[in-house]
Amino acid sequence: MSTTWPPPAGVPDEIRHWIAGELVASADGRTFDVADPVSNSTYTTAAAGGAHDVDRAVRAATAAFPAWSALGNRERARILHRVADAVESRAERLAALESFDSGLPITQARGQARRAAENFRYFADVIVALGEDAYRVGDQQINYVVRRPVGVAGLITPWNTPFMLESWKLAPALAAGCTVVIKPAEWTPLSASLWPKIMDEAAVPAGVVNIVHGIGEEAGQALVDHPHVPLISFTGSTDTGRHIVRSSARHLKKLSMELGGKSPVVVFADADVEAALDSVLFGVFSLNGERCTAGSRVLVERALYREFTRRLAERAEKVKVGPPADPVTEVGALVHPEHYARVLDYVETGRKEARLVAGGSRPGHLPEGNYLQPTVFADVAPGARIFQEEIFGPVVAVAPFDDEAEAVELANATQYGLAAYVWTSDLKRGHRIAHAVESGMVWINSHNVRDLRTPFGGVKASGLGREGGAHSIDFYTESKIVHVALGEVHTPRFGV
Ligand code: NAD
Repeated sequence: MSTTWPPPAGVPDEIRHWIAGELVASADGRTFDVADPVSNSTYTTAAAGGAHDVDRAVRAATAAFPAWSALGNRERARILHRVADAVESRAERLAALESFDSGLPITQARGQARRAAENFRYFADVIVALGEDAYRVGDQQINYVVRRPVGVAGLITPWNTPFMLESWKLAPALAAGCTVVIKPAEWTPLSASLWPKIMDEAAVPAGVVNIVHGIGEEAGQALVDHPHVPLISFTGSTDTGRHIVRSSARHLKKLSMELGGKSPVVVFADADVEAALDSVLFGVFSLNGERCTAGSRVLVERALYREFTRRLAERAEKVKVGPPADPVTEVGALVHPEHYARVLDYVETGRKEARLVAGGSRPGHLPEGNYLQPTVFADVAPGARIFQEEIFGPVVAVAPFDDEAEAVELANATQYGLAAYVWTSDLKRGHRIAHAVESGMVWINSHNVRDLRTPFGGVKASGLGREGGAHSIDFYTESKIVHVALGEVHTPRFGV
């Protein structure tokens, strides 16, 4: 095994499932290899779950459900705060593991650990503060809503920011009173191996959280197909999302789909150019460009176009690409050689479709590992594949527009609709564009800064449903309306 990048101390020899509070191998003993994105060599193996393992986990979650869902909200909230404490107490280790396994720069992996803890604190607070609605109909009737947790939640997560995205689903599901089976992404299972100790330390009862590792088409599919998992929260690619929607139709599952994006950044000539430039660079190159809300299409008003493109290219050439564990690294290694090859294919396509103005190849000082210098293509036509398709790497497409109408037309000219960003000093115009753009989220004069109370999700091929704040609690609970007559009820008398 070549080890150009030794694993951090304490990496487990084998990553196991966690079912009913026990670390277990797969029923059939199968495992899969796990590699890091710098040496691309296997550093551990993980249990490869199948239908049998998923069924065991669902049984454990089903057995734990009555007691967990019966706890008072305050009691569950206390436990979730302890989970947050346990996450925070291992923030450095978590960042080191995440950075090693996924290739994220260590400074950005640290931010993920903080955010993961905040998810638990936030949803602990939400569930305590949440009321249930009542509707009075004069003196005749009172109607009130009773919320119940849906049951065993199936959570399926991708490899970009794995631990943080797991927390984004675990926290509201547990707060709402669901028990869970989570299937982490197979390219990055390492950080999920921290959950068992975290949950034990917080005294989360056995079986409330169960983890089944494995390949999507096997372990993930088994979770989607399981008749006793009434809800699936999925974050991943649009193609997989479509497949899961089809598969889950048989049992009519409740679904949340957070899918791909090709989000536009619309920059008008009157924008604060320095701020817009910083934001464009950070928005598309942070997290190695492996970010669902990356501003990967930059549309610039013609008067500013040449200057903006030139400066963006100059800065992109200077972005520090390097080993994920190095604190000066701004862009690390892409997660997996398969994904790296896919991103490089897009770069080759881009060379034919548009004008390459920065990057486009592996930096000379990094002969191995999945590294790519941040890449900028200019004059990208709306029909180009690099304008239309999600690349999910440090690659950005830039195109000019002449007026507001064309800016909106170009912004809306893909199948996706996750996020959008608008840069202008004319706030009226900023709002007009924000309202006209087809996306679930828009930022005016800012990059992706999120408040956990706000709805998160996309339109068109970017997803179904919203999570975040009360939206998450709505998703993980069923609302039942109880109608109570307070006075006389007029009933037409049949059969008299
Ligand atoms: P992916 O769709 O390949 O995999 C996501 C998860 O689904 C993995 O755990 C995988 O094992 C599992 N899976 C695969 N096939 C399955 C099946 N048949 N049944 C059940 N589960 C299955 O996505 P990825 O490559 O891991 O992640 C990148 C994608 O995720 C990008 O498109 C990105 O935009 C998207 N993403 C979206 C958001 C969002 O909030 N909208 C956030 C992060 C990432």
